Amino acid sequence: MKYCKNCLEPSTRPGTEFNSNGICSTCIYSEYFSKNYDEQDRIEILKQQMSLI
Ligand SMILES: [Zn+2]
Repeated sequence: MKYCKNCLEPSTRPGTEFNSNGICSTCIYSEYFSKNYDEQDRIEILKQQMSLI
């Protein structure tokens, strides 16, 4: 049985897949969305900084 290296979720959970790094699909998706969120956040911060100049 495999465990996710990030959340330690066992592979017995239905629909759970692991990438080559041993990270489960849930963690991959949450990481993907949090990265995209950070990207949006950075753009917003940049816009705010530019408007201050
Ligand atoms: Zn996980």
